[in-house]
Amino acid sequence: MIVRTLDDVARIAATCTRCRLSAGRTQVVFGVGSPTADLMFIGEGPGYHEDKQGIPFVGAAGQLLTTLLSEIGIDRGDVYIANVVKCRPPGNRDPLPDEIESCRPYLLEQVATIDPRVVVTLGNFATRVILERPSLSISRVRGQRFTWDGRLVIPTFHPAAILHGGGAASSQMAAVRQDFASLRQALDELPQPVEEQLGLF
Ligand code: URA
Repeated sequence: MIVRTLDDVARIAATCTRCRLSAGRTQVVFGVGSPTADLMFIGEGPGYHEDKQGIPFVGAAGQLLTTLLSEIGIDRGDVYIANVVKCRPPGNRDPLPDEIESCRPYLLEQVATIDPRVVVTLGNFATRVILERPSLSISRVRGQRFTWDGRLVIPTFHPAAILHGGGAASSQMAAVRQDFASLRQALDELPQPVEEQLGLF
């Protein structure tokens, strides 16, 4: 069996025309971060700044994500960040079901290749796609722990929902902070590779 690398998949995705979003994009926003990350974040889709720069979560929501990570002692460069759809929906509208379906194989291949042990889904769309529950509501499941594909999945609110909602003092923000503390704990509890347990590295 020939296994494709993350770069192979990114190269293929870069010229994708599987759905109508390809017509309006500046570029495909495939993903960013460590290709061997233990922790992966999945958002919804690129916005204006992401479409221009080709990097997910570089706008205001991305800055909040970076801050939340630094609050739990994690550098953005040590995680992997991707979106459900890789091209910007016009006017930042919600991605449509057929667009999500067209892009799903890229997302699943990203997850399989990176092989993170913990996946954090940000908002309704990513949570629905990963847990394969199309009518699920993020407010009902946030902070819970699910097992999917042998990985731990922790859904939480999308950072943009906090920016457009109550802001830094809101109950949503407090919930996200709680969820980030939980994901930190989940990472800390992961069994270490044998070499590290033996102190070989
Ligand atoms: N919102 C997302 O869901 N993804 C991004 O990359 C930026 C904002």
